[in-house]
Amino acid sequence: MTHPLRAPYPPRSGETLLPWDQRPPAVHPKVLRDELVAAAEWVSGYLSGLPAGPVVRPMPPGQRAGLREGRLGGRTGDLGGVLDFVRDEIAPFPTGNGHPAFFAWVNSPPAPAGVIAELLACAVNATCGMGENALMDLERGTVRMLAGLAGLPDGTGGVLTSGGSMANLLALATARTWFLTRRGSSDGPAYDRDHARLTLYCSAQAHMSVSKAATCIGLPAHRLRPVATDAHDRLDPTALRAAVAADLDAGLLPFCTVSTLGTTATGAVDPLRPVTRLCRSVGMWHHADGAWGGLGAAIPALAPLYRGVDELDSMTVDPHKTLSVPVGCGALLVPGPEHLHTAFAHQASYLAADEPDALPWLSHATIELTRPGTRALALWATLQHLGRDGVTDLVEHYLRLAEQLRDRITSEPRLELLAGGPWPVACFRVTDPGSGDPDAFHTRVARRVQDNGRAYLATVAVRGRTVLRACLCNYRTTEDDLDLLISEVLHAADADDHPTTTPTGRPPDRR
Ligand SMILES: *Cc1c(COP(=O)(O)O)cnc(C)c1O
Repeated sequence: MTHPLRAPYPPRSGETLLPWDQRPPAVHPKVLRDELVAAAEWVSGYLSGLPAGPVVRPMPPGQRAGLREGRLGGRTGDLGGVLDFVRDEIAPFPTGNGHPAFFAWVNSPPAPAGVIAELLACAVNATCGMGENALMDLERGTVRMLAGLAGLPDGTGGVLTSGGSMANLLALATARTWFLTRRGSSDGPAYDRDHARLTLYCSAQAHMSVSKAATCIGLPAHRLRPVATDAHDRLDPTALRAAVAADLDAGLLPFCTVSTLGTTATGAVDPLRPVTRLCRSVGMWHHADGAWGGLGAAIPALAPLYRGVDELDSMTVDPHKTLSVPVGCGALLVPGPEHLHTAFAHQASYLAADEPDALPWLSHATIELTRPGTRALALWATLQHLGRDGVTDLVEHYLRLAEQLRDRITSEPRLELLAGGPWPVACFRVTDPGSGDPDAFHTRVARRVQDNGRAYLATVAVRGRTVLRACLCNYRTTEDDLDLLISEVLHAADADDHPTTTPTGRPPDRR
């Protein structure tokens, strides 16, 4: 039944016209309150009930097609329709990453503090790009908190982003501007000459967002050098040195190296100090992609691997990964924030000039102008709820579970551990019952586990082989979930029916 205060709009003939403060998009304050209470009750029930349901439940294709149609009626529904729609059409088909038995990629569940903060920040609806407001100062403060956790020096600035990909893009654009400005070639014919010779380095294990960002700043693929890695999937500084020397000999301009702190496939941490030394000696920027593993310096067990982190030129961190801040919350941290401003501060007549003593606007540190305050408040709330010790405890919980998972894999005769660590991940294989194509077999095993809906993991290529990959980044995951995952994998391998491959050599598509 329609709430008396939720009259449809526009009114049918004979119905009275609501005043504008109650006409869409506005609603009567009582309606707003009732709907918010209903939504809050639903959210708390949804989050606490997630573990009891299937990890994923695929939406019937017809229903998905309906969502894509995008039909908009002329007469609006009532406000309560929003919650009804989410409850009936979206929530029954979870994406999996709220469930404790979800082990794919690096997708965490949302921290409750972040969920609450997102809602509150939406109500404030600050524009965190221009002018000044409290949430902009909070963003500056949360960036400092992250920098402190990451072990970066005092005075580090930066900006929150939609995620790691955007942070990596900002980093490369900043490095490029820094490099060309120092050479006096940030514009004119000198720019054309130098830009065409810029060369970027990262390990062969770097995240694909690095090559994507390189493309976005105008670097062709053949100016990106994926450098060899060692037996533990870490960038090999000797190979990097050789690649840089060869490029310098060829008249190219090495301008930046991207190290990875927590590689996506196996959780490896690249060596920092030798790379920084090389960068300094040839005038390169050293960026670290710590989307997953950027906060390792705050974890005693990992801290030795992070020596030299304070000498980096920039670092990407993704609070929506390790810290469970709701997506999307990434960050670019820059010990010399003036370099960010050189790259991104642009003036316009319709934006008032800064006061002489004003702090640089956050839009002067990124691509966005109108920017949400949700990131800052959700990050702040999550960090306040955890505290510094809580951050350490959380990551240590993941590290401990990963160790237990690796132990279980090692002690199960039918499983073989191939890689994983120091970040909490395990890459492993199951004994192939003789399918003849172990890569296709492992793809099928992962799909069968996913389809069975009790646990979820993905595959990844490690040293040219397709393997199963299980990542720990859900604070609700327990040892029972590890046992469940192992038994689901073995069960899926037993049930493998060796489907014949298609003429292209690929296994048949799912469904
Ligand atoms: C996840 C990840 C990214 C990309 O971050 P998004 O937030 O997904 O854009 C970049 N680098 C690494 C190492 C990652 O793990």
